[in-house]
Amino acid sequence: ESNILMDFGINPAANTFSDTFPRIDRIPIPVENIDAIVISHAHLDHMGGLPLLFKYGYRGPVYMTEPTVYLMFLLLNDLYDVLQKNGVTPFFELKDLRTILQHTIPVKFGVVVDIAPDIKLTFRNAGHILGSAIIHLHIGEGLHNIVFTGDLKYDRSILLEHASTMFPRVETLITECTYGGQNDVMSPREEVENKLISLVNSTLEKNGNILIPTLAVGRAQEIMIILDNAIRNKKIPEVPIYVDGMISEVTAIHASFSNYLSKELRNAMANGFNPFKSEYVIPVKSSISKEEIAESRRNIILSPSGMLEGGPVLEYFKMIAQQEESIVIFVNYQIEGTLGSRILNGLRELTLQNSSGKVEALTIRSAIEKVDGFSGHSDRNQLLNYIRHVYTKKGPLFLVHGEAKKIQNMKKILNRIYGEYVYSPRLLETYRAL
Ligand SMILES: [Zn+2]
Ligand SMILES: [Zn+2]
Repeated sequence: ESNILMDFGINPAANTFSDTFPRIDRIPIPVENIDAIVISHAHLDHMGGLPLLFKYGYRGPVYMTEPTVYLMFLLLNDLYDVLQKNGVTPFFELKDLRTILQHTIPVKFGVVVDIAPDIKLTFRNAGHILGSAIIHLHIGEGLHNIVFTGDLKYDRSILLEHASTMFPRVETLITECTYGGQNDVMSPREEVENKLISLVNSTLEKNGNILIPTLAVGRAQEIMIILDNAIRNKKIPEVPIYVDGMISEVTAIHASFSNYLSKELRNAMANGFNPFKSEYVIPVKSSISKEEIAESRRNIILSPSGMLEGGPVLEYFKMIAQQEESIVIFVNYQIEGTLGSRILNGLRELTLQNSSGKVEALTIRSAIEKVDGFSGHSDRNQLLNYIRHVYTKKGPLFLVHGEAKKIQNMKKILNRIYGEYVYSPRLLETYRAL
């Protein structure tokens, strides 16, 4: 009888304390009785609550892939800085991060590890971000097998191969449903890339700036490679691509874990070409200010956060959103309620806090566009395809990690295919699988 916890995230975009953190008070056992923690990947909604568990006394092992170790500590350190900068007392101390590191065990894809006397863990590629893993737990001697997808992409991207379906046995499948909605179907990648390139070109013709709010991990690297390729192939003119925030650090981590990347990138790197090094990409350091970049023209700027919820992107946004000839292009998923999602829904008059805490009014005059399809998640069809390949109908299928109406929508379809074995658990619900 072992207790394993898979992923423990926070919602960094939530407004209230209780919406931000998981209900640690409702875990049915004391945290020190958890035998092992397994982390699927380095996004805050999957690992951001880890410091909290250590604060409350957890001292057991934490399993994750090696790139996840590096990305996670980079992101948690950054979270600490961001909270402090915003005048919020961080919910952990930096020494908690050191304690986590002492208990972290890196595991490679495909290697079977005993994480408890009766439980074996195997990670497989999830195709979502660098080092992202699908978690397979083998319980007892062939008694039960659980697959927990974390976030998955069942399609190749520039950076990664598609999610693995190589599980010898699966009884219980727990899958994410981020794009489970009826209309969540993405355009083919070529179309998506062409749309981005043509938006960049039409803006450069007007001498405008191009601001691309993006997640620091994954999307930024992918967009950088696409733009660098486009410049080298003369599809767009030679213009600087400024990258701000943690994008450079995260890019360096990608370059040092080439064995986790797509075959194409691995081959390129084996032949001495580093796709993460571009003569057009300029990290924004103290020598040039955001104002200088935004006030000049014909620049491409990539900066976190991707949903305009904090991060250096806001400074650029305040300036560039007022330039009629410029454009803001959203390239990743916008959670409902975030500034990014409200702007995409038509918000044009807004107020933002400046660095000294004063509220300023802002009218958006630039173009606003969304280029869908770069997502690190499966779209609805890819999700259904993935389930078809992995789910065996020998146990329950749980739908999690999605807006309620999208999950219900998926459930309706899957109920029709698989009958009553499909569940959409509510918060704090308990299931007995055996
Ligand atoms: Zn994720
Ligand atoms: Zn997620």
